[in-house]
This record gives sequence, structure tokens and C-alpha cells, in this order.
Amino acid sequence: MTEHTADLVVLGGGSGGYAAAIRASELGKSVVLIEQDKVGGTCLHRGCIPTKALLHTAEVADHVRDAAKVGVGASFTGIDPAAVTAYREGIVAKKFKGLEGLLKARGITVVTGSGRLLADHGVAVGDDVYRGTDVILATGSYSRSLPGLELGGRVLTSEGALALEVVPDRVVILGGGVIGVEFASVWRSFGAEVTIVEALDHLVPNEDLALSKGLERAFRKRGITAKLGIRFAGVTQSDAGVQVSLEDGSTIDADYLLVAVGRGPATADLGFEDADVTLDRSFVTVDERLQTSAAHVWAVGDIVPGLQLAHRSFQQGIFVAEQIAGLSPVAVAETSIPRVIYSSPEVASVGLTEAQAREKHGDAVATTEFNLAGNGKSEIIGTAGLVKVVRVTDGPIVGVHLLGDRVGELITEGQLAVGWEAHPEDLAPLIHAHPTQSEALGEAFLALAGKPLHAL
Ligand SMILES: Cc1cc2nc3c(=O)[nH]c(=O)nc-3n(C[C@H](O)[C@H](O)[C@H](O)COP(=O)(O)OP(=O)(O)OC[C@H]3O[C@@H](n4cnc5c(N)ncnc54)[C@H](O)[C@@H]3O)c2cc1C
Repeated sequence: MTEHTADLVVLGGGSGGYAAAIRASELGKSVVLIEQDKVGGTCLHRGCIPTKALLHTAEVADHVRDAAKVGVGASFTGIDPAAVTAYREGIVAKKFKGLEGLLKARGITVVTGSGRLLADHGVAVGDDVYRGTDVILATGSYSRSLPGLELGGRVLTSEGALALEVVPDRVVILGGGVIGVEFASVWRSFGAEVTIVEALDHLVPNEDLALSKGLERAFRKRGITAKLGIRFAGVTQSDAGVQVSLEDGSTIDADYLLVAVGRGPATADLGFEDADVTLDRSFVTVDERLQTSAAHVWAVGDIVPGLQLAHRSFQQGIFVAEQIAGLSPVAVAETSIPRVIYSSPEVASVGLTEAQAREKHGDAVATTEFNLAGNGKSEIIGTAGLVKVVRVTDGPIVGVHLLGDRVGELITEGQLAVGWEAHPEDLAPLIHAHPTQSEALGEAFLALAGKPLHAL
């Protein structure tokens, strides 16, 4: 057994782990980053980046189909799965190379292998032990299934769906959350018949009801079927396809079933509990500084309860690295983390939904909705949607909710408003360029400040 020492040992080289490693090394710490697969983790290799590449291909396909509407001669002749894969993999490979170069340039020691946490801030990889003054756990998450639902063959996780080398004719998607909705959007644009089965009453059920209903309307128009408030009962598969049964007795035949029912924390059999790291329903228990129950052992990213998003993982990694280096960073408030679903139309939000705001502030809540039909740029690009802003009466903006193509890029402004606890009256004088979709947000702020321009 060989023992190696460093100021910081990071277990897991995904968004949270590599961000912590980079920030700690910037602050002068010696860092060992242990990764069993490829640095970049889920987001770069199996999540954010490859799915957004697919969604871009989907967007181009839709534009080609609609080209005549804007006076462009073009005809859609189909999707070339091999070329889509080459495009997607090319982007991932480039980003991966860039990240490897960055870690190297920062002097971070990347160890390839599967790590197991030991007591006294050690991590074992094979016969080697890496002992840090501090250890950060960042082992991420995996695609969950339902009890009795076996994955494999034509029953896919998001990893299997990404790797699919064909465009399916018919797919069933179990789960109407972020991942389910994004794949539904891609496959519909690729020409498939898509059915989403969601046990709750709405698509994207964690979002404001106005966004859920708007997305359901938009998906209906796109020919995506959503079976809401219906539970999955079982699936059988053959060489030819799958048959999905629902608890109402109905069945759906399809080529594939995508199981998109959420992601579980990857914390099993990694020595965490033996090293006095407390788990709660498999998530790592942390305090508000992201310290686990074991001294000098910290946790970041998807293994920490809360929003499972890459930018949250980055931010948590940076936050812990700064604390270890003796700085006093400000804790990341979960409510100021922006959320974007990159379907067509996009769903973007930050802060409280109207229902959450009413739960917290009672009747002292005011909201406004601005329909994108009144926004010139949205009309030009041909998207329907809405902006909804929630404020405390005579108080700050606490929630911004957007639906429409390209609105994901606008959530940054919403985040600034919510994060800075801005009042609509403060924002009303700040003008938005014309014609942009951001004007719709400006209109909502104006309306909440009592001086609507293009709305009644
Ligand atoms: C299909 C899909 C689409 C997504 N799209 C988005 C998006 O658009 N935007 C967004 O913000 N988020 C998105 N996410 C979520 C995002 O990918 C995660 O929130 C993020 O990757 C979490 O970062 P992490 O560092 O906690 O974990 P991960 O990125 O999962 O990294 C954990 C790393 O730890 C390694 N590891 C685990 N155990 C060990 C061990 N014992 N030894 C060594 N290494 C180990 C793993 O190999 C992995 O590389 C998406 C996820 C999926 C699945």
C-alpha cells in the first residue's frame, strides 16, 4: 500500500468535483482528483451537453420543416442518426479535451480509478491511499427506476436513449420531469410518436402551474401525448418493441420505453458510513456549509439533497474550496438557482412559484403574466409562451417563470431580480432593447410596478 498526501482529495470528477479542484488549486492548495471514468462526469458525457446538442439538432429539424413559412426553400428529408452522433460526440470530445488541459495546467493530480472513503480523510484507490487535510465527496447520481421495473433492452435510461443509433417510430416516456420532457421534445422533432406518462397531474410538476399548463398546451399542439395523473403498471418487451400497461387498464405499444423518473445519489458501497458520514435516504447529510457529519469531509452536487443541476454543483464545489482555503464565501441559496428545461418551448424559472409564495407570504403576494403574443421578437421567431413574475405585495420579486423558445437565456435577468431582492419599481426604469424577448420580462416588471405599457 502506498500513501500519498495532499491538501485536498476530491472523490468524483464531475461538475462539483472538478470545480472544487480548480478553485482549490487557484487558492494555492495541492489537489488530488479521483475519477473512475472521465472527468466532466454526467453533465459533460451523459447529461447537459450531449442532450443540448440533440435538442439543437431537433431545433434545426423544426426550422427546416418550417422554412417555407419564412420564405426559405428547404425540405426536410430526415434525421441521420450517425451524423447526429458524430456532431454530439464531437462537441463532448472538444469540451473533454479542454477540461483535461485545464486540470493539467492547474497542476491538479488526476487519479483514474474507483475510490473508497476511509476514516481520517483518506480515499483508497486499489492499493494506493490518498490522504487529504480535507476530502470532498462528489460522486454524483445515477438513473433511478421504479420497484419491479427492470432496465435493459428496449427499456432505456437517459444514457441508453442518448446512445440510441436509430430514430424510433414510437416511444413511451415514463416521467414528465426535466429529462422526460427534453427527450419528448427531441424525439417529436425527429418525427417519432411520443407519449409521456406522468403519475402527477401535470408535466414539470415542480414548476409554476402556469408553466406546466402552457407546456402541456404547446406539447399538445406539437402532437405529443401526455397521459397525466395515470400510474404506470408494467412493461413487457420483445424483439419488436415494448408494451406498456397503465393502472387504468390501458396499454401502449412502442419501440422503446424511456424511464425518466429521477436520479438517485451515488453513495452506496463507497465507505461513507464506515467513515462516519451520515446518509439520509442515501443522500449525504450536510450542514449549511456543506460539511458532512465527519470533520473535514465535505459533500457537493447531486449527492446533496436539493436541485440536481450542474451549475449548483459548480457553485457548491467553489464554495467548499473557498472555505477550505480560509475564505468566507456566502452560502448558495437554493431559491436563487435558475432552472431551465431546454425543450421546445423552453421552461425557465427562478425562485418561488406562486403557490410557494402564497404558502410563505399568505395573501401578500401579487403576480402578473405577460403573454408572448404581445412580444414582437417572439412573434418573429414564431414562439408562443408567457412570462410570469411573482412579488411580495409592496416588496421584492420572489419568482420569475418563463415559457417559450429561447427564453432560457432570459432567466439570468430573473435570477438577478430574485437574488438581489429587487422591487419591480426599481426595475421599471431600466429599459430593454427592442425588439427582444427580454422586453416581455420588462413588461411584466412594468405591470407589477403599476404602469403596464403593452398590456391592460
Ligand atoms: C440526461 C441529463 C441531462 C441533464 N441536463 C442538465 C442541464 O441541461 N443542465 C444542468 O444544470 N444539469 C443537467 N443535468 C444534471 C447534471 O448532469 C448533474 O446535476 C451534474 O452532473 C451533477 O454533478 P456532480 O458533480 O454532482 O456529479 P456527476 O457529474 O455525476 O459526477 C460524479 C463523478 O463521480 C465519479 N465517481 C462516482 N463514484 C466514484 C468513485 N467511487 N470513484 C471515482 N469516481 C467516482 C463518476 O464517474 C462521475 O464522473 C442533466 C442530467 C442528465 C442525466
